[in-house]
Amino acid sequence: MVVVQTPHQLTDLHNTGAGFLFNDLRKIVSYRVWGTLHRASCRHLLKMATGSSWTDKYWFLTRQEALDWINRQNDPEGRQWRSCKKCSP
Ligand SMILES: [Zn+2]
Repeated sequence: MVVVQTPHQLTDLHNTGAGFLFNDLRKIVSYRVWGTLHRASCRHLLKMATGSSWTDKYWFLTRQEALDWINRQNDPEGRQWRSCKKCSP
């Protein structure tokens, strides 16, 4: 697992296209889900890289690695996470 710390790093991961990106939304209680899983190649990564707000993001080489990490997390609000409908990770 790699913590994605900057929009530039996120753009590089998107351009490389390998692996999976989890967008952690637990700090934003207004979202209906606590996080979203994407393929690194998903165009949503570019939107995240150019957006005005930055949330915690984690990159994983394999889907299983991502799921193992996700399943160890808890959302204080009891929300679910979801897979991106666009890229179907
Ligand atoms: Zn996606």
